Amino acid sequence: MTTRSFGMFIGGEAVAGGRSLEVLDKWTGAVVGHAALGSAEELEQAIAAAVGAEPEMAGLAIHRRRDALLGLADGIGSRRDEFAEMLRAEAGKPITAARGEVERTIVTIRSAAGEAERLGGEVLALDTEARSEGYVGMVKRVPVGACSFITPFNFPLNLVAHKIAPAIACGCPFVLKPAERTPLTALMIGEELAKLGLPAGSWSILALDVGDAGPLVGDDRFKLLSFTGSQTVGWALKAKAGKKKVALELGGNAACVVDESADVDDAAERIVVGGYGYSGQSCISVQRVLVHESRYDELREAMVGRVSELAHGDTRDAETVVGPLIDEAAAARVEAWIEEARAGGASVLCGGTREATAGGARSLVRGAVLAGVAPDARLACDEVFGPVTVLERFGSFDEALERVNDSDFGLQAGVFTRDIGRSHAAWDRLRVGAVLINEIPSWRVDPMPYGGVKDSGLGREGPRYAIEEMTERRMMVVRG
Ligand code: ADP
Repeated sequence: MTTRSFGMFIGGEAVAGGRSLEVLDKWTGAVVGHAALGSAEELEQAIAAAVGAEPEMAGLAIHRRRDALLGLADGIGSRRDEFAEMLRAEAGKPITAARGEVERTIVTIRSAAGEAERLGGEVLALDTEARSEGYVGMVKRVPVGACSFITPFNFPLNLVAHKIAPAIACGCPFVLKPAERTPLTALMIGEELAKLGLPAGSWSILALDVGDAGPLVGDDRFKLLSFTGSQTVGWALKAKAGKKKVALELGGNAACVVDESADVDDAAERIVVGGYGYSGQSCISVQRVLVHESRYDELREAMVGRVSELAHGDTRDAETVVGPLIDEAAAARVEAWIEEARAGGASVLCGGTREATAGGARSLVRGAVLAGVAPDARLACDEVFGPVTVLERFGSFDEALERVNDSDFGLQAGVFTRDIGRSHAAWDRLRVGAVLINEIPSWRVDPMPYGGVKDSGLGREGPRYAIEEMTERRMMVVRG
């Protein structure tokens, strides 16, 4: 792959910029490209352009919003191999997973195009009292205005699409800051957006030093901050966000329950996909596996066997499942958490060692399964964001549900059971954004409402639901 230099997009215009970020291939260590770093002045220009574009974006005909989104999906589709290769390189994502993310990105954008056609409202009967006889109400949703978007490194394409596509669908101008380690695929989206003739000023994508990003959070000209990333940063930003709406898609330590009626082999196969794919660097990666004591040994054997056989290493190899973590510091942290658990009495049933990438970074952690982890160990209660699962046995289903809830997080939970009553009990009682029956918590299709409760976040994504965050109701009351 040749090294590419990317500028930034300010108000839809390509701008070269001065300083730049160097972006490395997380497996080979080679430089894959540079991204211009926006200055404080350039961020101000982007914000002013977005605010200036509010009326035109709000008034843009539905067919133009829809067609722009379909054009964006087609544009990405026509460069899918290039997008997948850049994603592989900058995010250290195994190529098969990178290709999957490109396809999901296209689905996300097409789903937003469909939602653009379904923007509507409702007619309300207001004659509920004698004094309101003869009145009728109508409610429509109007775009909130300029939006600020901040995205993380782990799904640098699809998570960007989850913000910008609904914004285009409902008529919100935006300024997006991609993650500093993975800005290039977002800028490639910018190249495609630039071809679509969206209203002047309506969109900006620029890499920024975190120290210069303050106005994305604090500036009251933005009407919504939509952030995806770590819970520490997310909640800290919310505290500085002033009067704007805030949507947060944060992390978790997703649990998966396997009861005595489950197909254990099927559960093991899926848990391994959900716990180790992309080295567990997903907010809904399986971390805690709770299994009924009568099936514990069976699940442990099935999981350890599969995890030990997973292809680790070169992200360019189509068979690879577990590639490097995003950097050495992340791998050292995961290793330290495994050591802490071991020192507290846990057994490491497989994996957990740290190895070097082709580029020499010691950022690859072998997929690990642990048992007997103390409840207060970080592996049990924090978000590991690495290729590690923790096995626990339970005696009763009620106890399993309580343990799932005994977490600061609440994003998604999986329950393998053949019992319909237990499925409903889990849906009723688990404090999460979604319960998946006979499926892992890591499962998601992009149109569905996705998001968490507790420390895992606020609001929902999925184009239809993101549009709810990006719009507000406006009522008209008609007398006579
Ligand atoms: P991750 O490491 O998973 O990407 P982070 O929460 O560290 O998660 O970062 C998510 C995004 O938030 C990145 O784009 C990052 O640059 C950005 N970010 C981190 N700190 C701040 C901050 N103080 N202000 C604005 N953006 C920030």
